[in-house]
Amino acid sequence: MSKIIQLSPHVANLIAAGEVVERPASVVKELLENAVDAGATQVTVEIRDGGMTFLRVTDNGCGMAPEDARTAFLRHATSKLRTAEDLAAIVTMGFRGEALAAIASVSRIDLLTKTPGAIGGTSLSLEAGNITEESEAGCPDGTTIIVRDLFFNTPARMKFMKSDTVEGGKVAAAVQMQALAHPEVAFCFIKDGKEALSTPGTGSLEAAVYCVYGRESGKMVPLESKWEQFSLSGFVSKPSDARPSRALQTFFVNDRPVKSRLLTAALEEAYRNQIMVGKFPACVLHLTVPASAVDVNVHPAKTEVKFLNEKAVFDCIHYGVLGALNKTPDRPQVQFKPTPAPVPAPQTAAPAPKQENFFRTMSAQEYKNFTAAVKEAPKPSPVAAAATALAVEETALPPLRETVILPTAMPAPKPIPQPEKPEEPEQAVIPTMPVDIPWRFVGELYNSYIIVEQGEEAYLIDKHAAHERILFEKLKANQEAISSQTLLTPVAHRLSADSIAILLENQPLLEELGFEIQEFGENTLLIRQIPMDLDDTQAADALETLSADLLSGRKEKKDSVRDELLHTVACKAAIKAGWQSSEQELLRLAEQVLSRDDLKHCPHGRPICITLSKKQLEKQFKRS
Ligand code: ADP
Ligand code: MG
Repeated sequence: MSKIIQLSPHVANLIAAGEVVERPASVVKELLENAVDAGATQVTVEIRDGGMTFLRVTDNGCGMAPEDARTAFLRHATSKLRTAEDLAAIVTMGFRGEALAAIASVSRIDLLTKTPGAIGGTSLSLEAGNITEESEAGCPDGTTIIVRDLFFNTPARMKFMKSDTVEGGKVAAAVQMQALAHPEVAFCFIKDGKEALSTPGTGSLEAAVYCVYGRESGKMVPLESKWEQFSLSGFVSKPSDARPSRALQTFFVNDRPVKSRLLTAALEEAYRNQIMVGKFPACVLHLTVPASAVDVNVHPAKTEVKFLNEKAVFDCIHYGVLGALNKTPDRPQVQFKPTPAPVPAPQTAAPAPKQENFFRTMSAQEYKNFTAAVKEAPKPSPVAAAATALAVEETALPPLRETVILPTAMPAPKPIPQPEKPEEPEQAVIPTMPVDIPWRFVGELYNSYIIVEQGEEAYLIDKHAAHERILFEKLKANQEAISSQTLLTPVAHRLSADSIAILLENQPLLEELGFEIQEFGENTLLIRQIPMDLDDTQAADALETLSADLLSGRKEKKDSVRDELLHTVACKAAIKAGWQSSEQELLRLAEQVLSRDDLKHCPHGRPICITLSKKQLEKQFKRS
């Protein structure tokens, strides 16, 4: 091995930059935290080209004296921490003294800063962390930092950057996060010359949430509670407004945005048994704890925290949310039918109960504006009217809502990843039915399970799981493309900024999956075309699930993204447990399940069919 040397400050900074400065959004996060720490009440963020070439943060905070401005860019230079004891109770957003040094080491920086008492300000320019120019300057109180050409000297990092749209989306998400963290500060975000967000800075969290999520945020349940020395405030979604992903769960601990399994688990515990598997509550929650009860120094980007008393934190969130939900009526309407309901016509499966969806409704005026804007928006691709007519006609037809024509061979089902709640093995008995013995359709239980008798065995078939699997196999076999329908009126769907960016980035994939989308501004996506088997609400849900998968990086491979979407399409399009189905529909399903070996599990791994033998029954009735 070579001789050990101490790394030069420049190399040390580059290494630190790798931890702190991942992309333009992380630069913005650090600069915004500095502005907040400087006591700013107004902060403006401006970016061009996703923040890669130009990124400016202006604040009206305390500014820096000339000598401080110079020192600020040195590693471990901070005004927020003096002694080791201070680390035990940090009240500022920053404390590591690393951000400016790290950012400066991988970019070109111009700084303008002035303290309120001073006559003049300071102008500094840096390149790769070295000061290249310094002068006095006339400027307003506060600080302006311009970061240009991020990663110009670290091509390896540059390679990891996504398109400007994606990076810009992540910056937008970072600004939104700070706006929700600090309702007392007025944030303005300008992207490529256009204002994309502006919060009033009145101190009202409700106002900040409104600016970020739009008027639909009014459907959330407000929450205010105290638990020992902790206090909790914010907004949570009603169980009926659950989301297909966790993208809209936002937690702050002492105004710091954090990611924490503990907090997520505590939130979701409050929704237990009220929310469907695979759906998640949304929230904007501020937890305030004594500074000594939490360690924020566990992660370079300061997004993780460690609590002294995890149980108390869990209870605080769990009971706080539960209390708020219990105060709010949110019962799905049950429809009682006094007499046996008439069997519906074969082609109409009973419609799913329509849920008003969180973040999706518009006022009459908004709708008017929206439709006017849609008319003006350029169509990305010409769609023949005939195709639309055809799509409409086709969706009205098929009895089992199958719209994809089945090609000849069925591929053998791949092993399926385990569902969130693994089934207990003894329940998951997957029977194989002898083909030669005649079978008889007996009936249906609970509008969910088809009963079939064959010789000395009875089969209970989960009609949703069976239909889902059948649709999934069909979709999968049809490798070409997923049939899609053009919506007569495009649907506007609100999503988080980074979700929109990642979907736009993956347009070719989405097109293959039957979606046509367009950016519509204001955190809104315009959905023009959707897979044939989905309705617009389902399609919007599927897009959100997909965006969460893409963002999490779990679905890098195209095939698995496709499979995942096919699961979603199949699941949404399949008849549901609890729906009324005609005998004809049930017969067709049973027929397929009994005759095909590949229909053992639904795409999420739950069994499709279980058996009940005559012997078992006789044993129960003590006949044998
Ligand atoms: P930290 O925030 O952890 O202290 P930074 O590298 O982010 O470290 O900033 C270094 C120092 O520069 C801060 O401690 C602060 O004194 C000063 N500083 C940075 N940004 C600003 C700003 N916008 N206004 C006033 N002072 C600032
Ligand atoms: Mg800082």
